[in-house]
Amino acid sequence: KVNVCWLRRDLRLHDQAALYHALRKGIPVIVIFIFDRHILDELDDPQDRRMTFIYTKLEKINQQLIALGSSLLTFHDTPLGAFQKLMQQFDVQEVYTNRDYEPYARKRDQQIAAFLQEKGIAFHDFKDQVIFDRDEILKPDGTPYTVYTPYSKQWKQKLNTFYLQSYPVEKYLGNLFQLPAQPLPPLESIGFQLVQISFPPEEPDENIIRHYHLWRDYPAKNGTTKMSVHLRFGTISIRELVKKALAWNEKYLNELIWREFYQMILWHFPHVVHQCFKPEYDRIEWLNDEEAFRRWCEGRTGCPIVDAGMRQLNATGYMHNRLRMITASYLTKNLLIDWRWGEAYFAKKLLDYDLASNNGGWQWSAGCGCDAAPYFRLFNPDLQAQRFDPDYQFIKQWVLEYGSSAYPAPLISHQEARKRCLETYARALQDK
Ligand code: FAD
Repeated sequence: KVNVCWLRRDLRLHDQAALYHALRKGIPVIVIFIFDRHILDELDDPQDRRMTFIYTKLEKINQQLIALGSSLLTFHDTPLGAFQKLMQQFDVQEVYTNRDYEPYARKRDQQIAAFLQEKGIAFHDFKDQVIFDRDEILKPDGTPYTVYTPYSKQWKQKLNTFYLQSYPVEKYLGNLFQLPAQPLPPLESIGFQLVQISFPPEEPDENIIRHYHLWRDYPAKNGTTKMSVHLRFGTISIRELVKKALAWNEKYLNELIWREFYQMILWHFPHVVHQCFKPEYDRIEWLNDEEAFRRWCEGRTGCPIVDAGMRQLNATGYMHNRLRMITASYLTKNLLIDWRWGEAYFAKKLLDYDLASNNGGWQWSAGCGCDAAPYFRLFNPDLQAQRFDPDYQFIKQWVLEYGSSAYPAPLISHQEARKRCLETYARALQDK
């Protein structure tokens, strides 16, 4: 008899809700990971950086489990197929996992829970990747917040040490199922290759958090923590990070709350995946010029701060937040290209890609999201560059040909783009 802990976006063995609850039951626990065909078959790049990240972290977990006399079991299958195989090998009693709020994940978990229940196997899911989920933070009238500031106020009011307690998994590791050591299958066998990626260690830099409010907006400075990839894959515990934010810098805490705000929006308003949060914005007549889109993707728009951001993304899988806002605003408002095109491009390229934050960020930038930037406020990319990259240090780092004749002429002047944008948005938003 075994209990199963199913890892997904929680790739760590410490302070981990599902693993803790599974181990405490006393029945030996097997830890599994499924390379989900439904997800992987959608990735068209065999060099997708996220696969290298996941694989590296799974190898680390496997080494930790092997040292404890167990081993990580992996499957390359659909989740249903994986559980069928698992149940042929083991007498599974219960399955433990951490909640994921994305529509695909919710549907997947419902199906797996129903399938297991038919066989008399219980499926337990836990909150782990956020401090507050689902209905925990609601307006006094019981409806979800759609504006960040009152949400964050309520979030802070509700916070107490109970919500920040770590799960002491280490006390119960003796309850792991003893298994012969098994190496992971090579990444090539599931259709991907290991590539060079760079990301910081799981421990955030105290100095960066303490000075966060000063340097967070300057892409040439090392002023943000780059914890997004770790939060995305759960290689760091949100409880540990929030404790640090509380101790070191409230401004940093506010950003972690933005993350939870967008997770909450996705949970309550799943239509945002395909539609504007505010339906009237779905009437915008996007120009969707494919050539302009291609130039934006490649970082060849002739607008240096935009091009620097896009080149950083293409080369590293990361883009600074200020540049995500500038490039997204430029695509949607200056080029009048549907935010969903840009969102999909970021989704392919970002190592920290997260549906809730990416969708939230794009809808915010396009003006169509909850609590979004008003549509008539367009970022002027040149002014943004002067303000946040005053010596053009970041631009020069990424756009080597800047200032030479090899650098492309701008796709459109800001003045012209602004006028066109305001007219187009106004047409969509006038009462019909
Ligand atoms: P820090 O500044 O050190 O912030 C710490 C953490 O707070 C981040 O790791 C992140 O988890 C959270 N955070 C910070 N800003 C935001 C924000 N605006 N919204 C939500 N969470 C935030 N973030 C993602 O994690 N995945 C995405 O796919 C993503 N796509 C985005 C797309 C657009 C168009 C925009 C405008 C923003 C997007 N963001 C996304 C939010 C933000 O840009 C990144 O979280 C941040 O740049 C990551 O770098 P960092 O870890 O150094 O952040």
